[in-house]
Amino acid sequence: MTVLPNSLQARDIAYQMHPYTNARRHERIGPMVIERGEGIHVYDDQGREYIEGMAGLWSVGVGFGEKRLVEAATRQMSKLPYYHTFTHKSHEPSIALAEKLVKITPAGLDHVFFTNSGSEANDTVVKIAWYYNNALGRPNKKKFIARVGGYHGITVASGSLTGIQVNQKGFDLPLPFVRHITTPHFYRFGLPGESEQAFTDRLAKELEDVIAEEGADTIAAFIGEPVTGAGGVVVPPVGYWERVQEICRKNDILVVADEVINGFGRIGTMFASEHFNIRPDMLVLSKQITSSYQPLAAVVFSDAIYQAVADHSETLGTFGHGYTASGHPVATAVGLENLAIIEERGLVQNAATVGAHLQKALRGFANHPLVGEVRGVGLIGAVEIVKDKATKEKFDPPGKVGTYLFERAQEHGLIIRNMQDSIAFCPPMIITEKQVDEVIARFARALEDTQ
Ligand code: PLP
Repeated sequence: MTVLPNSLQARDIAYQMHPYTNARRHERIGPMVIERGEGIHVYDDQGREYIEGMAGLWSVGVGFGEKRLVEAATRQMSKLPYYHTFTHKSHEPSIALAEKLVKITPAGLDHVFFTNSGSEANDTVVKIAWYYNNALGRPNKKKFIARVGGYHGITVASGSLTGIQVNQKGFDLPLPFVRHITTPHFYRFGLPGESEQAFTDRLAKELEDVIAEEGADTIAAFIGEPVTGAGGVVVPPVGYWERVQEICRKNDILVVADEVINGFGRIGTMFASEHFNIRPDMLVLSKQITSSYQPLAAVVFSDAIYQAVADHSETLGTFGHGYTASGHPVATAVGLENLAIIEERGLVQNAATVGAHLQKALRGFANHPLVGEVRGVGLIGAVEIVKDKATKEKFDPPGKVGTYLFERAQEHGLIIRNMQDSIAFCPPMIITEKQVDEVIARFARALEDTQ
């Protein structure tokens, strides 16, 4: 792209440093400036239309241009644009959304703490777990077990839980309170001749070994995304989560389900924890909680944790944690309206039925010479491209071909996301089967250009 003087692109390059962006490359090519959105589509400043095959960042569940959310925000802005929830203050939208979340989340989750982002929510998880174990007189029980390839955010604590190199290289992360273990990705980490069941057994044994090595009395929690998102869309083998939970329970280790991407219908059930029979002690939610029309995240946790934390805060005088915008009235009002839309329009069911169509269509690429694996469930999927289909050898350098493919897709009017050489699909949950076919057609063109 030629960057014209004084254009939006030129001003962006001059003044804005972007997240997740190679700054020098950005200076050369400039940004794609998105101007507006409607349904599953967004439009750039040149008027070009794209299917948003990633729902923004896995997040705009109800699609773009949803007037009901605009109206909910406007109503709340006029009435009470801001108030906080510190020191015994509250407001109706935060109360109503907390109540709603407790009602719809899996059994055993009874209390809600609001934050602005998924990263802050995971920092809150770490701090609650630490506070909880201090409350119980177990000051050494503080470590977390996470997975390589897991994504939990980028703050100092959540970025330590994340198991992706780019989030840690250059930042002196992870902090030493985290141990990362193998991700349950059979295609990549299964051994030659190993069955999925044997793979799951091996991963369970690894978890047990790490616990034995560190000592169960030093480990506070296990955290994982039920279906991994940013690490490449990994659906674990059947039985994996049951084994993890069993081992954690036996060792008095909290189970944290990070459903920042999975939550609110993405995989075809309201929460992925339901699908995988996870009974988390803490559940982390964000993104589709407001369809990202407002920044909002939440940690929903058990009464046992709440009681210990509440007792300890009484001893210490206060629970000294929270954000200026925790439970922000506009964000929580939008969250409530968004959940009403998801329920009224049957979007969870839509993610199941149209999701099945998407999964079938994506698997149509499985025999393509560039495609190593197709994976996914509901309205989230990935196509992993490889240098050698037979040996699963990756491209070198990783991500070069994936980026090329992603750019070709964009030329064909489809925004997707490449995580190195895994190409993710995560469209708005309002998508129809016909629109899925158009996603597939545009991707097929991009794949053709890449051969
Ligand atoms: N957890 C998961 C599973 C995520 O996918 C993300 C973001 O993509 C986060 C946490 C971090 O959320 P945020 O970017 O809002 O800090």
